[in-house]
Amino acid sequence: MTETVTNWAGNIAFVAGEVRRPRSVGAVRSLVAGSSRVRVLGSGHSFNRIAEPGADGVLLSLGELPVEIDVDTSARTVRVGGGVRYAELARRVHAHGLALPNMASLPHISVAGSVATGTHGSGVRNGSLAAAVREVEIVTADGSLVVVGRGEERFGGAVTSLGALGVVTALTLDLEPAFEVEQHLFTELPLEGLDFEAVAGAAYSVSLFTDWRSPGFRQVWLKRRTDQPMVAFPWAAPATRALHPVPGMPAVNCTEQFGAPGPWHERLPHFRAEFTPSSGNELQSEYLLPREDALGVLRAVDAIRGTVAPVLQTCEVRTVAADEQWLSPAYGRDSVAVHFTWTDDAEAVLPAVRALEAALEPFSPRPHWGKVFATPPAEVGGGYPRLGDFARLVRELDPAGTFTNAFVRDVLTG
Ligand SMILES: Cc1cc2nc3c(=O)[nH]c(=O)nc-3n(C[C@H](O)[C@H](O)[C@H](O)COP(=O)(O)OP(=O)(O)OC[C@H]3O[C@@H](n4cnc5c(N)ncnc54)[C@H](O)[C@@H]3O)c2cc1C
Repeated sequence: MTETVTNWAGNIAFVAGEVRRPRSVGAVRSLVAGSSRVRVLGSGHSFNRIAEPGADGVLLSLGELPVEIDVDTSARTVRVGGGVRYAELARRVHAHGLALPNMASLPHISVAGSVATGTHGSGVRNGSLAAAVREVEIVTADGSLVVVGRGEERFGGAVTSLGALGVVTALTLDLEPAFEVEQHLFTELPLEGLDFEAVAGAAYSVSLFTDWRSPGFRQVWLKRRTDQPMVAFPWAAPATRALHPVPGMPAVNCTEQFGAPGPWHERLPHFRAEFTPSSGNELQSEYLLPREDALGVLRAVDAIRGTVAPVLQTCEVRTVAADEQWLSPAYGRDSVAVHFTWTDDAEAVLPAVRALEAALEPFSPRPHWGKVFATPPAEVGGGYPRLGDFARLVRELDPAGTFTNAFVRDVLTG
């Protein structure tokens, strides 16, 4: 490959035979039909080799496809093309007086890539972003277009699919009427005596941040829908200045705080859409665990904070409601998601990742598919009771393994 393509963080230079950027779905179909190995690269915000095709494969970017966003106001749905990012989608959906139920911390990520890895925001009643998907259109290995809709048995494997079924050229998502959100930030929430259920349920979406340099949380972000009641938050003090999740960073790129109401898409992400980070000096890891174990999980991390803190920029704790995608890290269980933004020094970070995985092991952690983890693939796959059904779906839609790379093969076969 003459062109070097890296992920957003720059920690991965993809190994690929060639890079292609088709400009139409027709071109995607013929390109795929004529290739023996293909992987799609979305917006490249994953931190591992999940998107890598390998030396004999095609790395396919959909960034030059026309931006397809078709809102159906009466059905309250939107059909969105395979290369579209949340920032653009949210702006267009909001212009029709409609909303997505939730968003991740950053709006710059692609919709197809996000739902492929189980990307999520926060909220005890909010599923991962894949939960909003009602239909997925996939170009399979022979160039055919396959549409799989909610209600079909195989839909359980079709959305959070790790890119293993084919090229997702469109998704149809459920929408709801637009709503407003206020962000209320608090500081210094102690771990001692924490009522996790009450704190996590205190608003539509709740995030706790800490650097683990001392026990407890440096920041609490409550995102309250203005059409839902304000709940008292007696456990921490209101923030007196605007905050960035990473201590010491200026809050200028963060979405507006201090309770100023604003449209859902300008409050649910932590970072503003108009601020475009070109690359990040960071690595990330995240684990989803049963929410009922949240306190035990947080105590287990606290017990090794001396190992974690030196390579940590910030840790974010969120909740994700159980969903029904077989490979979703929140499959079948209401989850607590414990996220780590590390420094960009992989060599120094890996021992902390291993220590963390050992500490979390008693709680059956499922690593985020798009982030850094050290758990052996067989163990990761073992955390998914429907893995066998997913492997069958891969064989049905992609019998020659055109879309199976080393990452996917390791998970499917252990
Ligand atoms: C700054 C930052 C903030 C983040 N915040 C969050 C967060 O709040 N919550 C969270 O859960 N995660 C978060 N993530 C992780 C991120 O959401 C995931 O890595 C997600 O997969 C990114 O989407 P992408 O398009 O960049 O995917 P990529 O990394 O490009 O690809 C991921 C996978 O999706 C597949 N794929 C992509 N597009 C298609 C397609 N059209 N058809 C078939 N397969 C496809 C790829 O082959 C690959 O397997 C964050 C990452 C960063 C860098």
